[in-house]
Amino acid sequence: MCQNCPQPQGFLAELIDSGLLIDTGVDGLYGRSGLFEEVIARFDDLITRHGGQDGAEIVRFPPAMSRKHFEKSGYLKSFPQLAGTVHSFAGDERAHAQLLHNVADGVDWTDGQISTEVVLTPAACYPLYPVVAKRGPLKTEGALFDLQSYCFRHEPSKDPARMQLFRMREYVRFGTPEQVTEFRATWLERGQAMMASLGVPLNLDVANDPFFGRAGRMLANNQRDQRLKFELLIPIESEEKPTACLSFNYHQDHFGTTWGIQTAAGETAHTACVGFGMERVALALFKHHGYDVERWPASVRDVLWP
Ligand code: ATP
Ligand code: ZN
Ligand code: MG
Repeated sequence: MCQNCPQPQGFLAELIDSGLLIDTGVDGLYGRSGLFEEVIARFDDLITRHGGQDGAEIVRFPPAMSRKHFEKSGYLKSFPQLAGTVHSFAGDERAHAQLLHNVADGVDWTDGQISTEVVLTPAACYPLYPVVAKRGPLKTEGALFDLQSYCFRHEPSKDPARMQLFRMREYVRFGTPEQVTEFRATWLERGQAMMASLGVPLNLDVANDPFFGRAGRMLANNQRDQRLKFELLIPIESEEKPTACLSFNYHQDHFGTTWGIQTAAGETAHTACVGFGMERVALALFKHHGYDVERWPASVRDVLWP
């Protein structure tokens, strides 16, 4: 380990000392212990117990998506600062020799890297829209999907709840404005009840995404004013600034228009999603109930290990 680098402090240091998270030397990039994964799996199961009866179609994508689809999604317009792209070496032997020299000299060796056809998934629902679009118009009842993916966001931080690679479970609803807003209202209630059953302090609030640049400020204000995004916040790293553990997003016709998704009646589809930050919820549980799951409150254990 680097001697001069600042050592992890506070909750992050505790998580690493307890073995729940494994330091890789990169902020926001951690290994997870078996116990940490067990808690994630139990929470994953709890989500299914709350949402599984709705008949969502289960789809799992790898943590990367088509670069073409990513470009079309508009992500680069809104969040260029968070995007992670995959590049690869495509040079000849001379270029290879140069690359190795650069690595050995500790200088930038990534010059000759070219972009591949894949980028890292920024949110679990991003790979889904082009798939749904390709299927043609929705049925009368719309559509509902159950997703989970590792997601990448370039936001390195000492806050253990702000990772660069983390898992997001999502339910995503497609349909008329009525169908989609009803879905979100249902999950606003359900999400709060579900998290209350885990005995952690909660607070629901309107929120906005970190849209880039000056034009982004207007988008963020508009998102807030129209109450398009809600977050269920739980104190993890800080009491004053609690962490968003669940998000409830109404995209209106944004993705429907981008991808040309139509309802059965031929209108542009509206979409909404509820996102569960798997690592954040696990961290909230360890924060509030301690590192020894055997000693978590019986009511919480009964919910997670029914
Ligand atoms: P924040 O405001 O904290 O940056 P967000 O608004 O960017 O969160 P969303 O884009 O709504 O979060 O993502 C859905 C869920 O994914 C969030 O509710 C959160 O639980 C989780 N999440 C988002 N970013 C991270 C991250 N960097 N590390 C771990 N979990 C995250
Ligand atoms: Zn989503
Ligand atoms: Mg964010």
